[in-house]
Amino acid sequence: MSRREFSKQIKRDAFLRANGRCEGMIDAPHGRVRCPVKLTIGKYHYDHDIPDGLGGEPILSNCVVLCVPCHKEKTVKRDVPAIAKTKRIQDREIGIRKPSRFAGSRDSKFKKKISGEIVLR
Ligand SMILES: [Zn+2]
Repeated sequence: MSRREFSKQIKRDAFLRANGRCEGMIDAPHGRVRCPVKLTIGKYHYDHDIPDGLGGEPILSNCVVLCVPCHKEKTVKRDVPAIAKTKRIQDREIGIRKPSRFAGSRDSKFKKKISGEIVLR
């Protein structure tokens, strides 16, 4: 599946809406506030608010203009974990799960009896 990028017109509209400032939200002592960074050429990205990989549409309401640090932070803290979680859930639905590394788990060749004795399965 290839990424569905925003059209030029959507980027133009998003840029106008941003009004020259990053649309990211950053942590402040009194909560989340809008990032104060001014948009300068080459220092911002058009980002899918809901990632493309999670079904986010390439439409204006899903397009945010982010400065590079905001984009990086969002990708690392929100998008990557959200996509990984979705993959795990999808895998589980089709019967794929990560083998447990713990001795005594169903994936181990050993099992521990109630008596505490460890035996081969
Ligand atoms: Zn920013």
